Amino acid sequence: MELIENYALKSLNTFGIDVYAQWFGACRSLNDWQSYLQFAADKGKPVFILGGGSNVLFTRNVEGILLRNEIPGISCTNEDEDFVYLRAGAGENWHTFVMYCVENGYGGVENLSLIPGSVGAGPMQNIGAYGVELKDVFYGLRALHRETLEIHEFGLADCEFDYRSSVFKTKWKDRFVILDVHFRLRKKPVLNTSYGAIEDELVRMGCDTPNLKAVSDAVIAIRTSKLPNPAQIGNAGSFFKNPSIPQEHYEQLKQNYPGMPAYPSTQTGYVKTAAGWLIEQCGWKGYRKADYGVHKNQALVLVNYGKASGSEIYNLSSEIMASVNEKFGIDLEREVNVY
Ligand code: FAD
Ligand code: NAP
Repeated sequence: MELIENYALKSLNTFGIDVYAQWFGACRSLNDWQSYLQFAADKGKPVFILGGGSNVLFTRNVEGILLRNEIPGISCTNEDEDFVYLRAGAGENWHTFVMYCVENGYGGVENLSLIPGSVGAGPMQNIGAYGVELKDVFYGLRALHRETLEIHEFGLADCEFDYRSSVFKTKWKDRFVILDVHFRLRKKPVLNTSYGAIEDELVRMGCDTPNLKAVSDAVIAIRTSKLPNPAQIGNAGSFFKNPSIPQEHYEQLKQNYPGMPAYPSTQTGYVKTAAGWLIEQCGWKGYRKADYGVHKNQALVLVNYGKASGSEIYNLSSEIMASVNEKFGIDLEREVNVY
């Protein structure tokens, strides 16, 4: 066990916020987690868990101990005629895991190519993109209870996955450390190219008989062209969730805003609308003040041009939420985890 005092977090969060952890430790095994958590409990220190830092906004220095999940490994646990079952350590890089699946011909995660962060954070918000969510390939996970230090197994139903949500963001928030995730992938892939942009990109690539690699390449190409690269401009992807609103509310708004997007929602009687569109209509797209702002191509992404503080970005998000509420009567919810 090695704790480092006053540890700089700027390079460990994709927003590039310049804050420090009072103490920092890296956990590469279950044993590490148990030792550090026991130590923190004995000393009465709070613990913050970090993966790849791509879905977090630090508005202050981290008090107590920040523990980074670095549990490695990808292994095959079983296979049958149709499926292969892979277990991945929570500290594996998500995109590396996706590439492993694509290269081996295992289908199901190709639409989730190039999502930053770790495997272990994937279930937290049921990561999703281009019509696919982690829950579609999820088989189970093992998590360590942060107080009892006991291991719990979670199946699909236990996780209560929803749109950018799971039990780990709701009733079990801050209770568990996800140690590893078990996936079920198809040996005979069924491609999902229903999301319009993928079809268009495959045509542009001149690909008329797509395979896993082609779909993954198409997703990577779209994402690279649309989204700011955190290595160049600090960001944490979509700052807000797409809000679901009652169908009636949508019908009323559509009279004034005929171009307002609407997609099926997971809630009956509701439609999902696009937060990026709402923010753009309020005039925020491309907004910049000092070193913080709203990305010029994607209004859902708040950015740090260099030296912005987490509080500046947080306050901007509050202003955006107030203006969307005033114009449309819709409450946006932050997707990014704010510390
Ligand atoms: P972190 O930011 O380190 O942590 C996120 C939260 O999970 C924190 O609350 C942390 O305490 C907790 N946590 C992390 N690991 C564990 C663990 N092992 N056990 C318990 N708690 C844990 N998300 C999508 O869903 N779809 C996208 O298409 C997408 N695109 C993105 C594009 C860009 C450019 C960026 C910067 C982000 C994007 N995101 C997207 C958001 C982000 O990549 C995902 O949410 C990702 O899963 C976060 O992983 P992480 O390891 O970086 O998590
Ligand atoms: P986009 O294609 O411009 O679409 C805008 C919004 O409309 C998206 O948020 C998407 O909702 C919704 N949408 C579009 N087509 C849809 C369809 N056929 N069915 C249902 N919903 C549809 O979005 P984008 O910003 O370029 O992102 C592309 C994908 O990557 C999206 O799935 C997005 O969620 C994901 N992404 C996520 C993050 C993040 O940080 N969470 C960051 C970048 C990209 P959904 O978001 O529900 O798909």
